[in-house]
Amino acid sequence: MPELIILGSGTGIPSLRRASPGLLLSLKSRHIVIDSGPGILRRMLEVGITYRDIDLLLYTHIHPDHIADLVPILFACKYGELPRQKELTLVGGCGFKQHFQMLKNLYAAWIEPQPYQLTVKEVVSSPLLLDGIKILSKSMAHLPESIGYRVEWGEGKSIVISGDTDYCENLVSLAWKADLLVLECSFPDQKKVEGHLTPSLAGRVAKESHCKKLLLTHLYPLCDQYDILDQCKKVFQGEILLAEDLMKIAI
Ligand SMILES: [Zn+2]
Ligand SMILES: [Zn+2]
Repeated sequence: MPELIILGSGTGIPSLRRASPGLLLSLKSRHIVIDSGPGILRRMLEVGITYRDIDLLLYTHIHPDHIADLVPILFACKYGELPRQKELTLVGGCGFKQHFQMLKNLYAAWIEPQPYQLTVKEVVSSPLLLDGIKILSKSMAHLPESIGYRVEWGEGKSIVISGDTDYCENLVSLAWKADLLVLECSFPDQKKVEGHLTPSLAGRVAKESHCKKLLLTHLYPLCDQYDILDQCKKVFQGEILLAEDLMKIAI
């Protein structure tokens, strides 16, 4: 059964409760990792996944809390006890290839794919296909190159991941009738920050998109001092989950 595991439910702020952002979607014997913040490579070990198992790495944007473990992942792929064999694909928004080139200039041979094949892609409008899994993306309201992802498979099953974003029409349409909608929820309603969602804004997106289930993640430490769930429930009456690290959700 397709499953989503929360590798990190936090942000770039160090927290013992919440690791930096990272999600693992296991689907059709494929392992898709969405964002790899610092510590995610090690978190993966806790759920029995290694650098050798990932098929696809999707990045929502290149803020360090979302991408910092990319270099350690590639380093492990090359120098791990068992070097990676199967092909790996990295995907990001506009400018991602340029960012990757800068990493290559910096780390050179240390992250050179060997002996495996590495493909780096930018998705903006055309969907990505992998074994009957369809991945779509839309730009989000955070950085100019930020994107959210919609993964579809089987008989109309879908999961949507916002990455960091503020409320925007694109998010509502990307999330349309999703089986599981994973939204960032950075700050409580009382402490709204531009470029990020609050519980009531996340609830608004869930309500307007008619998603079946809502999962709130990317929680700044401040969130744990407020009743996030209650703030969201006032707007969205469907099922709401508050992410915790290593939480598993069947889809
Ligand atoms: Zn972030
Ligand atoms: Zn960000």
